[in-house]
Amino acid sequence: MNESFLRQHVLDRFLRYIAIDTQSSHERADAGIQPSTEGQIELGNLLVTELIQMGLTNTKIDENGYVLAHLPASTGLENKPSFGLCSHLDTAAEASGKNVKAQIVDKYDGSVIHLSEGHSIDPATDSALAACVGETIITSDGTTLLGADNKAGIAGIMTLVHYLTENPEIQHGPIEIVFSPDEETGHGMDRIPLEKITSKAFYTVDGGQVGEIETECFNAWKCDVVFTGIAAHLGTARGKMVNAVSMAASFVSALPARESPETTSGYEGYFCPLEINGSGETASVTVYLRDFDLSEMEKKLDRVDVFATAIEAQFPGGKVSVTRTKQYLNMKEKLDRAPHVLELLKRAAKNAGVATSMSPIRGGTDGSRLTEMGIPTPNIFTGGHNFHSRIEWASLEQMTAMVKTLIELAKVWGE
Ligand SMILES: [Zn+2]
Repeated sequence: MNESFLRQHVLDRFLRYIAIDTQSSHERADAGIQPSTEGQIELGNLLVTELIQMGLTNTKIDENGYVLAHLPASTGLENKPSFGLCSHLDTAAEASGKNVKAQIVDKYDGSVIHLSEGHSIDPATDSALAACVGETIITSDGTTLLGADNKAGIAGIMTLVHYLTENPEIQHGPIEIVFSPDEETGHGMDRIPLEKITSKAFYTVDGGQVGEIETECFNAWKCDVVFTGIAAHLGTARGKMVNAVSMAASFVSALPARESPETTSGYEGYFCPLEINGSGETASVTVYLRDFDLSEMEKKLDRVDVFATAIEAQFPGGKVSVTRTKQYLNMKEKLDRAPHVLELLKRAAKNAGVATSMSPIRGGTDGSRLTEMGIPTPNIFTGGHNFHSRIEWASLEQMTAMVKTLIELAKVWGE
């Protein structure tokens, strides 16, 4: 495998893709507009053009902004099972993705990397960066995010296609490629054209640290809790008024502070009140519940009911109702039922000389949604770090390790 070829190509592609502003819009995505922003179509069109130039004639972007492509199998391997690779076109809302100016630090010496506007990336507090001495580090100039989430993944998949089409002697089965819009808004899989997808397994290429494979994510529910009080003239409210605002406030105070996003990590779940609205007569609170374990999630849902009942008792005459909505499920259970998907990925990483580690995702991904739809989809590292922020960075060596792993993945699926 020609390492310098892969390095140069993945870098060139990455720099080309981050130059296009693809920040998605929660507001527009929530209103059903997909893709939520024009830039995602621009990037999608560029990718289609490049894929067609590489000989993938059966490639297009659909009306919702999904880029679909098929890389045909090597001659004689047409009947091997196909697998899919997926990355997302958009970048996060937390930091601008416009006019990204990449800075490249060659042979990183382990010192603080200074960006504009007082931002810096400090290896003393960023152990992943501290481990990258001698590597090539790519950052933004500090005024925007970098866009490694997820253009490092896109660049990796595109470099894989380039490499396989230029080196037809490498034996591989059929590969499907999906670049999806609006992942960061939670709508990435809303309109995925499942009927056009034939692979029984996918991999999202949307992770971070080199070697990290993610097969577990939260189970996620939300509870909409509505408090109905009794209105009265404030001057004569004694013994009559039941204040819905006070009910909502008491409910939020009852949630366990030691089980919040601010106080938990790793495998710990949480309650998070994320929205509150209302006035004296009615008020509502939306609580997000997260847990890796489904039976623990059941307990959390029951505890919300217990808190609600306690508020009713505390405010006689007031009413509390709780509506539960499932958001997504931990993909682990379904991935465990298709162990070959993970085994092939681990074998590919090993063949690429990459040591793997497993870590849980404290969130959901397009992969967890795809897994729920019946297509087991673990997540592969990209070499990007500090996603969704101005101090986002990527290691070119780690990105190259991603491409090498993808090439080996193509080979092991063709065996
Ligand atoms: Zn991402």
